[in-house]
Amino acid sequence: MKAVIHAGFEPVSLVFGRFDPELDPGLLPKPRTSPMPDPLSVATLKGVGPKLADRLLRLGISTIIDVLLHLPLRYQDRTRLTPVGRLQPGVEAQIEAEVVSSEVSNRGRRSLLCHLTDGTGVLTLRFIHFSPGQQQLLGQTGARLRCFGEVRQGYAGLEMIHPECRRISLGESLVADCLTPIYPATAGLHQLTLRGLAEQALEQLEMAELLPELLPPAVLAQLRLPSIADAVRLLHQPPATTALADLDSGRHPARRRLAFEELLAHQLSLRRLRQRMKQQVAPPLAGHGGLTGRFLERLPFVLTAAQQRVLDEITADLAQPRPMLRLLQGDVGSGKTVVAALAAIRAVEIGAQTALMAPTELLAEQHYRNFDGWFSDLGIEVAWLTGRLTGKARRTALDRLASGQIQVVVGTHALFQEHVAFAELALAIIDEQHRFGVHQRLALREKGQQGHSHPHQLIMTATPIPRTLAMSAYADLDTSVIDELPPGRQPVKTVAIPDSRRDAVVVRIRQACQSGRQAYWVCPLIEESETLQCQAAAATAERLSEILPELRIGLAHGRLPAAAKEAVMRLFKVGQLDLLVATTVIEVGVDVPNASLMIIENAERLGLAQLHQLRGRVGRGTLESSCVLLYRPPLSQVAHRRLATLRECHDGFEIARCDLELRGPGEVLGARQSGEQTLRVADLLRDQDLLPAARQVADQLLRERPDCVESLIRRWIGAGARYGEV
Ligand code: ADP
Ligand code: MG
Repeated sequence: MKAVIHAGFEPVSLVFGRFDPELDPGLLPKPRTSPMPDPLSVATLKGVGPKLADRLLRLGISTIIDVLLHLPLRYQDRTRLTPVGRLQPGVEAQIEAEVVSSEVSNRGRRSLLCHLTDGTGVLTLRFIHFSPGQQQLLGQTGARLRCFGEVRQGYAGLEMIHPECRRISLGESLVADCLTPIYPATAGLHQLTLRGLAEQALEQLEMAELLPELLPPAVLAQLRLPSIADAVRLLHQPPATTALADLDSGRHPARRRLAFEELLAHQLSLRRLRQRMKQQVAPPLAGHGGLTGRFLERLPFVLTAAQQRVLDEITADLAQPRPMLRLLQGDVGSGKTVVAALAAIRAVEIGAQTALMAPTELLAEQHYRNFDGWFSDLGIEVAWLTGRLTGKARRTALDRLASGQIQVVVGTHALFQEHVAFAELALAIIDEQHRFGVHQRLALREKGQQGHSHPHQLIMTATPIPRTLAMSAYADLDTSVIDELPPGRQPVKTVAIPDSRRDAVVVRIRQACQSGRQAYWVCPLIEESETLQCQAAAATAERLSEILPELRIGLAHGRLPAAAKEAVMRLFKVGQLDLLVATTVIEVGVDVPNASLMIIENAERLGLAQLHQLRGRVGRGTLESSCVLLYRPPLSQVAHRRLATLRECHDGFEIARCDLELRGPGEVLGARQSGEQTLRVADLLRDQDLLPAARQVADQLLRERPDCVESLIRRWIGAGARYGEV
């Protein structure tokens, strides 16, 4: 699977790893208009002019090595001829037969029909588009044709529609001696062209040793993988005896050899990036700890052991004169915010600034309120900066930020806009990282750069990622995990109910609210339109107000004016609303411990991770909580599994594992993708089992073979123009 998947509105492909040209100028792609012709450029191959070169570039191919690493999607078997009498509908086959008769039929769409036989049976070729020349060439009785195509059941027997065919003379009996590769292509680029280029590149591979072996022989032997040259040769021109099924499933050792090397190259590039970042200077945040003590004294709860452990890890990092690069993973409700606040205090203690970036205005507001509540007593000044802050208030905030009066600023992506300047940004905290691209993260980093000094970075995510995957995708970050929930939490009782039983659900809401609890009613995305989503929520709120006149019902969605939304959220938070009808704006982070019932409409349309996030809005206090997944039957098999998983499982990591199986790693890793490197050969799901070895070999090479490290990164990541937009 080389998945191109849809996340949000734009198709994105699975990506992996990261490249930062600023940190690594040596890896910048060579400019396309380099005056010195590159001896490895595709332009040196026969038949490649500027136009073709341009099309190849669209496939990420700019060098001969790229051609070699552009592997077929699948193969056709043209190494033998199938007797016409043995053809099966639905199967691709190659035949050779003589035209018995032909006609232009006007039944249905006008088409040229050629009836063929090889003595074992009869087959019809059907051409809907044909020129007079083709008609003459193919329709001539007695003409001998070799055709390749998919057989299907026609009106009057088996046929092939628009097969590839050519006339051959008797005695010309040569068939292909290799399986025929079918490459990923693009508009205006033909298979024959790609095949021709691959052939030329393979010739050069022999002569020029284009792909020297970079892996130690012991590694190859241990993993039972072929040499790179053998692997590439086999994949472009598999001998007729190669097991097609292995090739197609991606389990063939030749394919695994390349996948392994690619995973290794990414691992190396992230690790090297990390090494370089670690060589940078950062302000050591090793203050007196007095504020920390006072903060903890006032906190109405005691940190869990997991929070304390993670905090110790962070504190130790922050005390170093090198930038911290740490990912903080913790399930929803595990208490990441207070850990972030404690990290911020370390910066305050030495008189430096912290920026906390949240993915939505609502969350930024909530963090702001949390931080302000915790910090104002301690004399720490917290400010709020989002796109909604305008005019004089904004100017004042910016001035105070630039002069250093503001010690902690909470905001959205508005934080890294151009005119925002910090006096001394020492720590950048990014919440719910899957909503941000890495570029935004880097932009915030750049903001804090002062001379040679870089801010520390703490990235918080509630989307747990299975361990091997995380170790690979986040090889540039250290990881801390809060693997324990605050005491007294009870698992959220989860049920799935068809929406024909809404009435029963309404009764439940009434009961819960009458006993002093609060409830959410979530109307998720049905159309790909925020407006429609908001309308749906508004209509639901209205209907529920009619059925439940005794309840105080509020409505929150992304289209409400900020002040109105904030007012509603605040009312809900302080218990003056019983029921909050909302869109998925409440998905991440919103924290109202007294809310103990959640209804999710159209639950069958949501992904596991999102459902888990939503459900995480309840069960945050010590109350017994429930979550009702309303669905519209019939459920697809996948939707059924999702709902069942959610019903039975409460552990974010376990849910992430199931999510990975159901959706594939591309979507699970979410925004870690945007603008990042696409894997060419490897597939994180299919080739998962190679990841531990890739990590281990990466260690070994970094220690023993720096020369190979360089070459591997250049081979897989440095070549081509994939990073054009970085
Ligand atoms: P998340 O990790 O999902 O961001 P929050 O930081 O919002 O979780 O914390 C969830 C809730 O748990 C908040 O109400 C917070 O005050 C509370 N909380 C955090 N840590 C503890 C703790 N050690 N003991 C009790 N409650 C806690
Ligand atoms: Mg949170």
